[in-house]
Amino acid sequence: MAPKKVKRKSKIEEICCRKRSQLLMAVLLPVVVVGGYFCPRLGFIVLGLITVFMVIASKRGRFYCGWLCPMGAFHERFLSLVSLKKPILPVFKSSWFRWLLFTLMMTLMFSRLFMAWGDPLAVGSVFRMMWILSTGIAIGLGLYFMPRTWCAVCPMGSFQGISSKNTYLLTVEDRCVQCKKCQRVCPISSYPGLYKQEQGPGQVPSIECLRCSNCVMNCPKDALYFKSEENMV
Ligand code: SF4
Ligand code: SF4
Repeated sequence: MAPKKVKRKSKIEEICCRKRSQLLMAVLLPVVVVGGYFCPRLGFIVLGLITVFMVIASKRGRFYCGWLCPMGAFHERFLSLVSLKKPILPVFKSSWFRWLLFTLMMTLMFSRLFMAWGDPLAVGSVFRMMWILSTGIAIGLGLYFMPRTWCAVCPMGSFQGISSKNTYLLTVEDRCVQCKKCQRVCPISSYPGLYKQEQGPGQVPSIECLRCSNCVMNCPKDALYFKSEENMV
């Protein structure tokens, strides 16, 4: 089947829809982090969300990150109100840093899960602990740099990125004039115009894009759209 462009909703509809879903999902952050202190089983919400994003990633790449992640939503909707919004350092966009962090965080999580195995309260506490750790680092980064700096290196986001390499990719048409407006509106400072090809469409690597649609809606040349060879929408 030939690839098709995905129809765009009106700008207002899309912005309101994403904002609503983020505000709803952001509630889960205090539920797990604060509520989990009193009821460690609430940590299993994190496990449920991991299952949800694995399913979504197979159809829409990092769509979960852009629309549903409670931490990302908190940073984008609330942390952004106090963030200094300095540019994200290049090191946070580098592969080696992303995969080093991934290895460290996964080693920590699985070793703690191994020790907690068989005790549901302790297992729930491990997931809660991972969220507290991630949120703490993310707030520290997001207060000085762009509010969603963490999302550029988040191990769960990286995992979704590599498991959806050819899925629902952001595509750049050759009418792009490399004005960089897309980069200015991107929550993780990705620059779709960089992937422009002289002839034919270019594609932004899955891991670099949260599928938030900000750039698609703001491109003055209407040069961006989402496309997937395998998963048509
Ligand atoms: S906003 Fe559009 S035209 Fe400008 S660099 Fe991005 S993709 Fe190209
Ligand atoms: S590249 Fe576009 S769709 Fe992807 S995260 Fe950035 S603004 Fe959102």
